[in-house]
Amino acid sequence: MTNLDALRQRVPAGILLTDPELVEPYRRDMTDLVDAGKPAAVLRPTTTAEVSAILAWANDSRTVVVPRGAGTGLSGGAAALDGCVIVSLERMHEIREIDSANHTAVVEAGVINADVSRAVADAGLFYPPDPGSYETSTIGGNLATNAGGMRCVKYGVTRNSVLGLEVVLAGGRILHTGGKTIKDVAGLDLTQLFIGSEGTLGVVTAATLRLRPLPVATATFAATFSSLDAGGRALDAIRASGVTPSMLEIMDNATINAVEDYKRMDLDRSTALLLIGQADGPDAGGQVDRMLAACTSAGADLALAADDPEEADLLLEARRAAGWALTRQGATVVEDVAVPRSALGQMIAAVPRIGAELGVRIATVGHAGDGNIHPILLLPDLTDGTRKRAMQAADRICATAIALGGSITGEHGIGELKRQWLPDQLDQTALDVQTAIKRALDPNTILNPGRGF
Ligand SMILES: Cc1cc2nc3c(=O)[nH]c(=O)nc-3n(C[C@H](O)[C@H](O)[C@H](O)COP(=O)(O)OP(=O)(O)OC[C@H]3O[C@@H](n4cnc5c(N)ncnc54)[C@H](O)[C@@H]3O)c2cc1C
Repeated sequence: MTNLDALRQRVPAGILLTDPELVEPYRRDMTDLVDAGKPAAVLRPTTTAEVSAILAWANDSRTVVVPRGAGTGLSGGAAALDGCVIVSLERMHEIREIDSANHTAVVEAGVINADVSRAVADAGLFYPPDPGSYETSTIGGNLATNAGGMRCVKYGVTRNSVLGLEVVLAGGRILHTGGKTIKDVAGLDLTQLFIGSEGTLGVVTAATLRLRPLPVATATFAATFSSLDAGGRALDAIRASGVTPSMLEIMDNATINAVEDYKRMDLDRSTALLLIGQADGPDAGGQVDRMLAACTSAGADLALAADDPEEADLLLEARRAAGWALTRQGATVVEDVAVPRSALGQMIAAVPRIGAELGVRIATVGHAGDGNIHPILLLPDLTDGTRKRAMQAADRICATAIALGGSITGEHGIGELKRQWLPDQLDQTALDVQTAIKRALDPNTILNPGRGF
């Protein structure tokens, strides 16, 4: 009896796919530079009990498990490994509970991010973390990568909106952490341990999410700059003004042009840097006025508030389209670095220099309010020479972020792509502690080995 025959006896028929044509769409995520392996099967459980049976079998048979959400990851974390089983959570998409009194929702891992906010809108609530992939990516994938997004500058990243988890451990045991309470210091914070662990410590099957009241008002603005330096100065001035934006995003010239090519939005194709910002709450308009003044004092060519909600929606749509517009131009490496916010101007300025020196086209887009940018390497092909140059550029970008006191990844995770740079950022003690945690929770190394830390 093969390993898979043994599994068939433990799970219902129909959750196991082995036909190569059906398996193929599950092999990769959106990382062009990580080569996907050949999986033995794809498993699509519908209940936590089925996930538990799969992990018990995988642990007994020493079969590698690659957990998967929607496969929109940008660091190769969900790409198949040779001989693995891919455990796709896509069919666990139930919203189990909405508790409007406590501002919480219990959702399964396969629920699409944007569906959470849609489901709770009638209760006057929303779920803040909003990665650019929010209409596609899953809560499980967001949790596993600790995803960020445009609203994180005010509301925090995924970990700031999660109160509890249901996780299946390597041997099949089901762990429940946290709950509906905002404050809870009983024991170690296991919820936070699993968030950002990239499928290496357990498979998340459900989460208790923290929701927020919909803002009473929002105001939106855009400012254009003829140089990256002036844009950097505007970001410093906005921070110094004491305003709390609910969004503060940038798009450079190459990004603006990619968005215009993708969908005509009448953005000015000659602008060096476009800043899009938003404030929410009772004083949203006043806060936007202060951000506009900061942009003007920093030398903006144009700094205007959006006159009506449609105009505001268009600006946000342009920014949300940027990732898709750039990744569909051809092969890409979507870099993701974060620096202390006062160093962001230096980071933004370093990127085109690195691109010019190595002959790599780079478009930059990012969550400027968080000090988190995505220099997107636009590659003509995936030949060995191009790959080598791209990795050199990525190496220089990561080194610059570290030298500025920052991180090699702000929100996309280490996955497979970024493992080589992790020891440049973390010292040996930090790496040893992470390895010890991994050994304790996954002694047979079946969970997404070679990914993350
Ligand atoms: C156009 C575009 C824009 C994007 N914008 C952003 C952005 O603004 N912010 C941001 O942070 N990211 C962004 N991303 C990256 C990506 O969407 C996120 O990393 C997202 O969280 C991945 O979710 P997913 O469901 O696709 O997960 P996958 O890609 O399937 O998996 C990602 C990782 O999580 C693990 N995993 C998935 N589900 C589980 C589970 N249930 N339990 C345990 N481990 C699991 C996988 O093994 C893998 O390591 C963007 C991607 C695209 C294509």
